[in-house]
Amino acid sequence: MTGLAWTIAELIAEKITVTVYCQADGCGYNQELDLNQLAAEFGPDARAMAADLAPKLTCWMCGSKDISLIYSPKTRTPSRE
Ligand SMILES: [Zn+2]
Repeated sequence: MTGLAWTIAELIAEKITVTVYCQADGCGYNQELDLNQLAAEFGPDARAMAADLAPKLTCWMCGSKDISLIYSPKTRTPSRE
């Protein structure tokens, strides 16, 4: 998937969870992003890679811009029992 730029709509369609982590000293706040709200704010076709989103976001707790984003694909857990 190198070179691909996800859009917000694609993240939603692929059920990818984006979590924001605050890098500020003593904060460490993390929060799952509301992709539907992002889509409403920036448009569903807006690029949604970390380099695109991080500058738009601030920590909800301390207001720091020093944040990182973690993208987690929704893993399907096979029911074995
Ligand atoms: Zn913070």
